[in-house]
Amino acid sequence: MEKTYWIDTHCHMNDEIYRSDLDAYMQRSLEYNVGRNMVICMNREDLEYTFEMQKKYPYIDIAYGYHPEDADKITEEDIEYMENIISDDRIIAVGEIGLDYYWDKTYKEKQKRLFIRQLEMANKINKPVLIHSRSRAQDTYDILKQHARVHVLMHCFGESPEMMQEYLKLGYYIAFGGVVTFKNAKTPKENVINVPLDRLMLETDCPYMTPVPFRGKTNETAYVRYVGEFVARERNISESELQRQLMENYRRFFDAED
Ligand SMILES: [Zn+2]
Repeated sequence: MEKTYWIDTHCHMNDEIYRSDLDAYMQRSLEYNVGRNMVICMNREDLEYTFEMQKKYPYIDIAYGYHPEDADKITEEDIEYMENIISDDRIIAVGEIGLDYYWDKTYKEKQKRLFIRQLEMANKINKPVLIHSRSRAQDTYDILKQHARVHVLMHCFGESPEMMQEYLKLGYYIAFGGVVTFKNAKTPKENVINVPLDRLMLETDCPYMTPVPFRGKTNETAYVRYVGEFVARERNISESELQRQLMENYRRFFDAED
């Protein structure tokens, strides 16, 4: 039988805070039976660093996209760079892209334009998209429904059960992180229990969102294991069965080879 393992479908292990000790972090990921890690790149420097990472850790996957919070900084040159690099075989997804009105509400229109341009790019090269959405669920939904023609993964899903049903109807996948392990996270917990198993993904979003039992400390990709153990318990299935299902989902979604 095939060996099963956890997959972190969204992490920032290319973040500067890991760089001086990267080997130890990636080693721990394997020790925790996390066999695959989707590393998100948000700019050219990230991407070049992550291409180098992948030579050393061939089990990492790479996504590239401009985060909505950077909408104000992204230049035409950045867009051109992305248009050229995005068809590179080492990049298997476009993301994270989306809308975030939480911190600053003044960049709405810029964020929308950037989001749509990147969705169109993904459509053109037929690569799946990883979606970041905060504080404006309806706008994200409307734009995705109108523009996305590829597989869609809602990363770190924090919206209502009704909204989740709407995304499921469109065929989208839903990813959950450490938040589901928090005592007061009622809605995310309800969502992670109710999402169909064949549309579920797990992630850390590290260095943010550290799960229990390490809440408050720096997160790292190995800790997706705690999210997985929690979900297996809550859904009353074995860890290996959940791993097998998540591996199948990952392959179906990203069309990834081993
Ligand atoms: Zn992220």
